[in-house]
Amino acid sequence: MNVHDSERLAGMLEDAGYTPAPDGAAPDLVVFNTCAVRENADNKLYGTLGHMRPLKTANPDMQVAVGGCLAQKDRSTIVERAPWVDVVFGTHNIGSLPTLLERARHNNEAQVEILESLETFPSTLPARRDSAYSGWVSISVGCNNTCTFCIVPSLRGKEKDRRPGDVLAEVQALVDEGVLEVTLLGQNVNSYGVEFGDRLAFGKLLRSAGQIDGLERIRFTSPHPKDFTDDVIAAMAETPAVCHQLHMPLQSGSDRLLKEMRRSYRTDKYLGILDKVRAAMPDAAITTDIIVGFPGETEEDFQGTLDVVREARFASAFTFQYSKRPGTPAAEMDGQLPKEVVQERFDRLIAVQEENSLAGNQAQVGREVEVLVAHGEGRRDGETQRMSGRARDGRLVHFAATPGVRAGDVVNTVVTYAAPHYLVADGAIVAHRRTRAGDNTEAGLRPKTSGVSLGLPSFGTPAPLAPAGGCAIQ
Ligand code: SF4
Repeated sequence: MNVHDSERLAGMLEDAGYTPAPDGAAPDLVVFNTCAVRENADNKLYGTLGHMRPLKTANPDMQVAVGGCLAQKDRSTIVERAPWVDVVFGTHNIGSLPTLLERARHNNEAQVEILESLETFPSTLPARRDSAYSGWVSISVGCNNTCTFCIVPSLRGKEKDRRPGDVLAEVQALVDEGVLEVTLLGQNVNSYGVEFGDRLAFGKLLRSAGQIDGLERIRFTSPHPKDFTDDVIAAMAETPAVCHQLHMPLQSGSDRLLKEMRRSYRTDKYLGILDKVRAAMPDAAITTDIIVGFPGETEEDFQGTLDVVREARFASAFTFQYSKRPGTPAAEMDGQLPKEVVQERFDRLIAVQEENSLAGNQAQVGREVEVLVAHGEGRRDGETQRMSGRARDGRLVHFAATPGVRAGDVVNTVVTYAAPHYLVADGAIVAHRRTRAGDNTEAGLRPKTSGVSLGLPSFGTPAPLAPAGGCAIQ
């Protein structure tokens, strides 16, 4: 969601006349779009802001802006700790950034503007997209749940749903520009529709998006086991464009801890959903999030997590060591665990999951997979003479580099080797389909959706680089 917000910030700044700073040049504006979910996010922000100080001293006209979840949380503390920051804006008013920059310049003083609720849905703002073949589309922002470890509800607010017609218009606008894959985004996509009173809205949205001609891959993140319905499973199975990939956050395999986390499903229900998903889509790749070392976690609780992980056969898992988020109920709970206990359990969990991941990937060896070729997915591609992309089920595939294949094209190839985190296909490719997304990637073009007048995107290279007025978003 933050990455997509950064696309909006870039699109807005471009509309306001800013241009990207050339590589290596000192920018006139630096925008930090922060995340409060990861550990040490605040230390990292204030450390990085410290690096801005000498740049600002050398160029007093340079502006520094801080937005996103940490800005929403820390507010004016940011300008108190880093007085060289010019603008602080929150998660609910990212559209105000150009105005706040202008006002800070005009008044020659820092502007801090944090709203308590959403001013405009971010998708009504222009967006400069990072990719010509794959795009994010928000369906909702905010969350009505109260998981005790999570800072999101207090920083992103209550759930706000976009109208289905607006979502579909944005998907259509991207597809019209050659985009092949969209990922529908929401903190809890399964409660989509709660605002306009339709519990089946998400399944309907998947089915409707699946009708859009030229849209080859639909993904979504994240579902919530509490709200996951059979109807969504049916919509996934019946809609050919929907990828058989499901990211289903588990968080813990202990029912006692799930209660403490205020996650209102239990492990039986969770595993039951996976059974139904696999019955409807035997090839589904299921991934998850797990927290190790939640306050009060006993060895028995942790064994429960290991048991569920073995049974669930996750394709991969994002595993986190619990760490306190100030402002969350769990931060005040008794039974905070010593780091060494958490680390030891974490290592055991990783070992079990690595076995799962390897077994799941080994089952792919010998199979033909369809790969949407990506840019930047394989860090060692240069050395290994390979290219990389994602299979329909989300697995990372490195395949033999083939002349004429570009990022954004689609190839079919046969898997020859499996590692826990990737597949290799070293034989000659079976098929190659050149796409408009590939043409655009090759030409350095990326879509820009206008936001307000959805359906009328412009397309082009990022605006020409200029020595002044350049900006960088991190
Ligand atoms: S459902 Fe997700 S976003 Fe909402 S409170 Fe729980 S962890 Fe946070």
